[in-house]
This record gives sequence, structure tokens and C-alpha cells, in this order.
Amino acid sequence: MNSVFVYCEIEDGQVAEVSQELMTKGRSLACELGCNLEALAIGCELNGIESQIFPYGVDVLYVADDKRLSPYTTLPHTSIIVKLFEEQKPQIALMGASSVGRDLGPRVSSALHSGLTADCTSLVIGSHEDKKLGKIYEKLLYQIRPAFGGNIIATIINPEHRPQMATVREGVMKKEIFNPKYKGKLVKLDVSKYVSDTDFVVEIIERHLEKRKVNMIAAPIVVSGGYGVGSKENFRLLFELAEVLGGEVGASRAAVDAGFAEHERQIGQTGVTVRPKLYIACGISGQIQHRAGMDQSAQIIAINTDPEAPINAIADYVITGGVADVIPKMIKYYKKNTK
Ligand code: FAD
Repeated sequence: MNSVFVYCEIEDGQVAEVSQELMTKGRSLACELGCNLEALAIGCELNGIESQIFPYGVDVLYVADDKRLSPYTTLPHTSIIVKLFEEQKPQIALMGASSVGRDLGPRVSSALHSGLTADCTSLVIGSHEDKKLGKIYEKLLYQIRPAFGGNIIATIINPEHRPQMATVREGVMKKEIFNPKYKGKLVKLDVSKYVSDTDFVVEIIERHLEKRKVNMIAAPIVVSGGYGVGSKENFRLLFELAEVLGGEVGASRAAVDAGFAEHERQIGQTGVTVRPKLYIACGISGQIQHRAGMDQSAQIIAINTDPEAPINAIADYVITGGVADVIPKMIKYYKKNTK
């Protein structure tokens, strides 16, 4: 059976978080399918990159190393992937739903006529019976994602064309080393066979990289505020609590839309996905689009004036009360007890 393939994004010699998460998912899919997990790294000065990739259980790593391949540009990366996929015929190909993956994925899938599901929130293996054709498809990739404005969860399949391609956002899948000593096979590609001069018509003259201001994905505690927090000023209480707890501040979309918090703090279907040790939901009703970004948290505390708020159904602890009453008490008692 053909492989599961992961395209590894590389920046400053580091494999991106989203690619590490996808290799973890790819490994479990490959185990279920009984096939190899393969990965592809494209860039320059990639010597030793395999030490970051093999521990995720990668059986074969293809490396395209050429100074013209970094920083990322669309055409040469597309050409390399398309040709490699034509040779290796993977059954599944995964990419990050990052700016690079969103640029690359559609080009590759369109060149291969393979189809692509963007922003998947879950990937599982399953079968499908096409009653019209009288055919049963085994071991398909169920590409699961919210659809129709988040009102339904759609399962998308691609029975006939290969590879079955999907992109996934950073933080959605869990990252886990498979075996720190895992050793796969390293295949160095002869780049000249995969690209042509016309792939390099675009030259990057200058690059400005903006560092991420908030990193909620890595935070062990997220204090998150919703529309019920009431104002930007009240959000300061959340920042204070996050500071004493050593966490980050998140927000619901309604809070972001109301201008209480910056957009990069939005958690949920159209924001980031977090799975901290503790998630404190303050004045958040807990609509499905918000829950999609936080329901994997290890422990959830909900603070809400409404005892029937939907967030309470997934919370480990519920505090019924107003944010402005409860949060200052939490700050006070936490400070007192950690002296
Ligand atoms: P509300 O639903 O207005 O809830 C406010 C809560 O605060 C209530 O439960 C209320 O009881 C409580 N409250 C009021 N006063 C107080 C007080 N003083 N103290 C304590 N509690 C109080 N939402 C997201 O969050 N993230 C997303 O990524 C996202 N993506 C979306 C994508 C699509 C396509 C769509 C259609 C919607 C999306 N939404 C998203 C919006 C989502 O459906 C909800 O509208 C939103 O999550 C509601 O935010 P909220 O819980 O802060 O506000």
C-alpha cells in the first residue's frame, strides 16, 4: 500500500510546529493503514534536518536541498512535490493550513487532479459504500471539517483520486515524538531533475518577518474572555489573572468583534486551537465554533452568570457568577496562597 506523505515546512533550519503535528497524525494513519510514513523537506542547508524528522516515525525522508529553494517560493516547491508525488503515488498527503500550505496545497492538488480539503479538524480512516455504483471503498481518509458557517461537521472523501490531500491548522493535531531513536531512510533528491529555470522567475528581494506577538498554543494555562466580560477595561482583569497564573489571555470571536481583545487571541474554529492544562472560560457561552478551539483542554473552569450556559456542559468546574466579582477573588486567593 502506498505511503502517507507530510510536507515539512522549514524556517531557519527548524521544522514548523504544524509539520511536527502532522507527522504525529501521519504516523498514526500510516500504522492503521499498514504503510510507510514519508516526509519531504525542501529548502537550503538542510544537512542534519533528519534528526528533527525521523523521531516522528518517518520511514523515508526526501530532501531537496538547493540555495534557490529558500526562502519559499511557489513554483519550485510545487514542481518538486508534483513530480515526487507522480513518482511515489502517495495515498494521503498532508500540509499545514499555513500561508505556505494554503499556497502550495491547491496548486499541487490541481496539477494532480486530486482534490483537497482545507482546514480539517479531524482525519480518520473509514470505508464508504457507493450504492449507485455498487462499490465499497475501504480505508479511505475521512477529511472532517466544519461546513456551512460551522453549522454542520462535514466528512469529505475522495474515493477515486490520489493522493487524498488535506491541510490542517497549527495546534489542531497533537504533537508527539513516536520514538526518539527511530531511523528512517534519507533520500537526497537531484533538484535539477525536479525543477526548471522557469520555476525561478520570481525572485525574493527583501523579506520582513513579523514575530508572533502571542503564543497561546504553547501556554499551559489560558484565561479566555467572551462577550460577557463586558469591556476592554474588564479584560485587564483577565490579563492580571493570566499573569499570576503564568498563562496567556484568549478570547471568543464575539469579544474580538466587540474590540475587547486582538484578533490573534481568538480561539475557535476561525481562530487558534489550544489544548492547555487549564482553560478558564470567563463570560463565554460556549458555542460550537468556540468549543472547536478549546474542548481538548485538560481541565476547564467556566465562570458565567448563566447556570445553563452551554460551556458548563463541558466544564470540569463551574462558577456561577459575574466576571467582575469572581476574577478579583481568584487573583487575591491565588496570590495569597502562593506567597
Ligand atoms: P455570547 O454568546 O454572547 O455569550 C456571552 C456569555 O457571557 C453568556 O453565556 C452570558 O451568560 C455570559 N455573561 C454575561 N454577562 C456576564 C458576566 N458579567 N459575567 C460572567 N458571564 C457573563 N466564536 C468563537 O469564539 N471563535 C471562533 O473561532 C468562531 N468562529 C465562528 C465561525 C463561524 C463561521 C460562525 C458562524 C461563528 C463563529 N464564532 C466563533 C461565533 C460563535 O458562534 C459565537 O457567536 C461566539 O463564540 C459567542 O461568543 P461569546 O460566548 O463570547 O458571546
